[in-house]
Formats: sequence, structure tokens, C-alpha cells
Amino acid sequence: MYSTQFDPRLNKIHAQRCPQSRYDVVIKSACFDQLLEQMMQRCGYLRPTDLSPTGIEAPVNTVTFMDWKKYHKLSVVNGFIDDLEKDYPAICTVSVIGKSVEGRNIKMLKISNSDAGNSPVWIDAGIHSREWISIAVVTYIANIIAKNFNNLPKSITNKDWHFVPVLNPDGYEYTHTHERMWRKNRAMHEGKCVGVDLNRNFSCGWGVDGDQGSSASPHSAFYRGPAPFSEPETVAVRDTIMGSRTPFKVFLSLHSYFELIIFPWGHKAEACPDYLQLLEGGAVMARAIYESSGLIYKVGSTKDLTYSACGTSTDWSYTIANIPFSYMIELRSKKHKFRLPRTQIIETGKEIWNAVGKLMEFVDQY
Ligand SMILES: [Zn+2]
Repeated sequence: MYSTQFDPRLNKIHAQRCPQSRYDVVIKSACFDQLLEQMMQRCGYLRPTDLSPTGIEAPVNTVTFMDWKKYHKLSVVNGFIDDLEKDYPAICTVSVIGKSVEGRNIKMLKISNSDAGNSPVWIDAGIHSREWISIAVVTYIANIIAKNFNNLPKSITNKDWHFVPVLNPDGYEYTHTHERMWRKNRAMHEGKCVGVDLNRNFSCGWGVDGDQGSSASPHSAFYRGPAPFSEPETVAVRDTIMGSRTPFKVFLSLHSYFELIIFPWGHKAEACPDYLQLLEGGAVMARAIYESSGLIYKVGSTKDLTYSACGTSTDWSYTIANIPFSYMIELRSKKHKFRLPRTQIIETGKEIWNAVGKLMEFVDQY
């Protein structure tokens, strides 16, 4: 019999036997999940393989199992895609497409049956580190595709899926350890970390529109960096996509929290040449989301629906990389902003999986 009490000031687990043969257990907050997992295993709720082999003595960041009941740190996300590669070696491959400013690996999971006629699809998340739901959703989708590949429709299996779950690993780690609302990478400027807004650092329309669509000030949340592709994280995207032998057909970048499906352009007001096609594809996704959860995502060009945004990845992917179906999806939620309750992760994953599936049917017509 245990009763637990939370005290974040304590560094180790304290257990004290009480006269009535009950135990009062006071644990450090960071240890709570691991202790709970160990107790759940004893009760049969978890398989032993779900646990860190070193149990509660291990540092917290070695918890290695993935679920969609909470938000996970970088080490768990990376461990999850490594496990998919081990479990499904015929279709899953993990590669390192670059290193972050602080030297962390930027990992990509490719899921493909290696058919020569497949169309490459790109889905990244976490370019803005505080948008945690994007990382949860991209792993949710990758998990479904890897584990159900042979039972999925051809519109899914005729694609080469490229998932980058954490495009900004330094920033993501920082949001877990220091500042939950950090948005940028961890770039240095004049000896101090200021960070660059990676979604303003791409070359298409970089720096145009003055301080409207991005900022020249290193202290702004929208700092575009000293030059296009000045950051290793954006270079990793550019080099991977431009280095592909087969041109990419779909580019999706997941963000939060405005519940929008937006497409180029963000750096100028005029409609892009494929405006109607992109609008139709966006509407297909919005309808699928509505049918899944009842939520209404608006669809339109970046500048129509939000604000001027210069140097974005979707303007670059559409204009420079010639990826015809380039979208940015702003996930939930307008109500909770960046702090979407973890109880909504699975429902958000389902609605976006439905949307992505319908988009794949749609793009196969072209
Ligand atoms: Zn964002």
C-alpha cells in the first residue's frame, strides 16, 4: 500500500514505513513517471520491454517507450523511430540529415516499399519548438503507416514517406528543460544565444517586406537570421529535398495552434499559379478533419489567412523546390494555444491522419 506525495524540492525517493504498515512515499517530480511505470508493470499494465531496463535509478530522459498519452522528450521520439527501423526493417530507414547548432542529430524516418514509381512525401514537425502537438502528430502518423503498411490503401503505399519529427532538436530540448515557450533554434549571435526563427530562414522571399514578414533583430521571435539558409536545420531540409533523385510531390509542415491549412504564398499577396489546386487539396483535408472530429480548419493562402510571412519553408518548397502540394498545417488549438492538453493528442492525430490520407488520394489524380 502506497500513498504518494509530490514535492519537487526533493532529489531522491523517500519511503517511510508507518506504524499501520502503510508506506508514505515522497518522490521528486521527475521520477514520478518512472515509478508509476514500474508499478504499472507489476500490475500487468505494461510489458517489461516498455520500460527502461535500469528502472527508477535511471536518469529520466532514458525512459524509452512512446505513446500518445503525453508529450515526449527528444530522446524518446528518436528512440521511437529507431525502434520502428528495427521492427520493420523492410520498409523503415532512419537517417541523420544534419546536425543542429548544438550538434544534435536531425533524424529522418523514411517509410517505403522501395517501388520505383512511388512519389516522395515530406512531413516535418517541431520547426517551432514550443509547438509540441506537431511532434506528437507526426509520430502518430508514422506509427500507423509503419505498423499497418500492408493493410493500407495504395494511395498510402505508393508514396515514399519522409518524416522529420523534430526539425529543431535544440529548441525542442530547451522547451523541456528551460523555457516552455521557446520558438526558435539555439543560434548564437555576438557570443549569446538568440535563436533564429527557422521558418523565416528559407531563401524564397527571405527578408522582403521589411519587418512585416520577419525581423532583422536577433531579439525578435521572428528573427530571420543573417542570411538565407544560415542555419544548419534549414540546410538539412534543403539538401535532403534537393538531393532526392525523384522530385517530391507533397510537402507538409506541421505547426500549431491556429487550426488552419495554409499554402503559398506568404511573402506576397498575389495568388500563386496553383492557387485553385492548392485550395481544393486543402479543402479535401479540412473536410476530412471535420468528418473526424467536427473541428473546422480554415483553408487559404498564408497571407490571406494569417499575416505576411517571408522566408517560410512552404514558400521555398513550392517555389524553389517545385513541390506542387506544399502546405503548412496549423494544428489545435485556438483555445489552449501552445499548451494543448495531452488528452487531445490522439484525437488530433486521428483528424490529421484522416486529412493526410484524403490528400494522398487527391494528389494521385495529378
Ligand atoms: Zn509554428
